Amino acid sequence: MRIRKGDTVKIMKGKDRGKTGPILRVDVSAMKVVVEGLNRFKKHVRPRKQGEKGQIVEIARPLPIANVQLVCPSCNKTVRVGFEVKDGVKKRYCKKCKNILEK
Ligand SMILES: [Zn+2]
Repeated sequence: MRIRKGDTVKIMKGKDRGKTGPILRVDVSAMKVVVEGLNRFKKHVRPRKQGEKGQIVEIARPLPIANVQLVCPSCNKTVRVGFEVKDGVKKRYCKKCKNILEK
């Protein structure tokens, strides 16, 4: 997976195009990510109990991974991710500045 939880990404498509935010969740099987505070939509919640009020909550909706691009923490640009194996461990690196992306 080229994008992981905690990565900062830029949204390339959709209504929040051009905005950046951290990844909250990665859904590997659906190839989707949830970016904190972005791609939100309003959900109307009906009252479940008597006396409770219905309310509108904003929920971050998953985005296809193809619609986001990683922002490299070193060079601060949207970059492609490369992989290399070092000491038997697969590492991600930034294709622009060649820095290893693991913290
Ligand atoms: Zn970089």
